[in-house]
Amino acid sequence: MTRAATSTEPIPLLDLQAQYDTLRDEIRPVIDRVCDSQWFIGGPEVTGCEEEIAAYSDCKFGIGMSSGTDALLCGMMALCIGPGDEVIVPSFTFFATAGCVSRLGATPVFADVDPVTYNLTAKTIEPHITDKTRLIIPVHLFGQCADMEPIMALAAKHGLTVMEDAAQTIGATYKGKKAGSIGHLGTFSFFPSKNLGCFGDGGMIVTNDETLAKTCTKMRNHGAEPKYYHALIGGNFRLDALQAAIIRIKLPYLDGWSKARGENACRYAGLLEKTPLGLPHIADHNVSIFNQYVVRCPGRDQLRAYLAEQGISTEVYYPVPLHLQECFAYRNGKVGDLPHCEQAAAEVLALPVYPELTEQQQARVAGAIADFYDHAWNG
Ligand SMILES: *Cc1c(COP(=O)(O)O)cnc(C)c1O
Repeated sequence: MTRAATSTEPIPLLDLQAQYDTLRDEIRPVIDRVCDSQWFIGGPEVTGCEEEIAAYSDCKFGIGMSSGTDALLCGMMALCIGPGDEVIVPSFTFFATAGCVSRLGATPVFADVDPVTYNLTAKTIEPHITDKTRLIIPVHLFGQCADMEPIMALAAKHGLTVMEDAAQTIGATYKGKKAGSIGHLGTFSFFPSKNLGCFGDGGMIVTNDETLAKTCTKMRNHGAEPKYYHALIGGNFRLDALQAAIIRIKLPYLDGWSKARGENACRYAGLLEKTPLGLPHIADHNVSIFNQYVVRCPGRDQLRAYLAEQGISTEVYYPVPLHLQECFAYRNGKVGDLPHCEQAAAEVLALPVYPELTEQQQARVAGAIADFYDHAWNG
């Protein structure tokens, strides 16, 4: 099935149907294989998936998880993060990064981000380190890694652990190192809209630390070892065999998809050059997988509404920085505390960048943006 990009056809933010059309014939028999085996929890698909994702990420161990959120939660449980502990997280990120900290009774400490990469830096982290700090969670936002070397040096200086939230960044590199392999542990999400998405929820922890890997493996199964003997309190954080099988089918395509996203990003850079948009900047030492193509826009909400009228879908990741969320009011965050996070929340807009996006579709997106600033915008 091919779809002609006529000038009126809607352009989605992400077209998972287009991806599935190319994989259907490979995926259906694998689903049958898992169903015929009736082995849904653990088993060869899960271990195979763990080994393949670990190898892909240059890590020794992969521990399948029920979601990216549970990977963060389980990782922190394995590190015994709890009441009295402080965990430094960016304020400009998906909720899960900080929600998991609070769920364990620990304190999320919100730090500002670099205005160019939207990521934590050693400089934005350092002022928040106290004698209660235990963990730093750099989030590699939109597909590009945080500047990890200075962060790891800062963590070493203070004896802190670093867990990379690489939910949006599987396969990205920083100075040639794979996302997830740089900190003490890293977490991935296989939520359908991530670059490597399964058909439901799924995630993984990767690490080179054997002790930590063993603890995470126990934690995801209620802390049991052997069965029904619990030295630890864990949960049900397991990746299921159907999802693992689907991830294994998709993994060999991931680099190609990420490359196509990178090419689309390059094309946008040319197409959008003369507009007032602030375009993404990828640091020289990084290769981004462009999970999102995020621009800064004067009159962002007006532009978004204008594009929606032309059938072009966009999204705001994320409209409210976490230090200003109602549920974190007990942390006493105020407007003005973290100016780069607040400004990003007010200006950012994600444009369609998915691998199957055609040149004509991109030209239409860019054309509509130019029209908006030439004719419609009254800012
Ligand atoms: C998607 C995402 C998560 C959560 O992953 P789920 O699989 O949806 O639970 C965590 N952190 C970041 C930065 C994400 O983008």
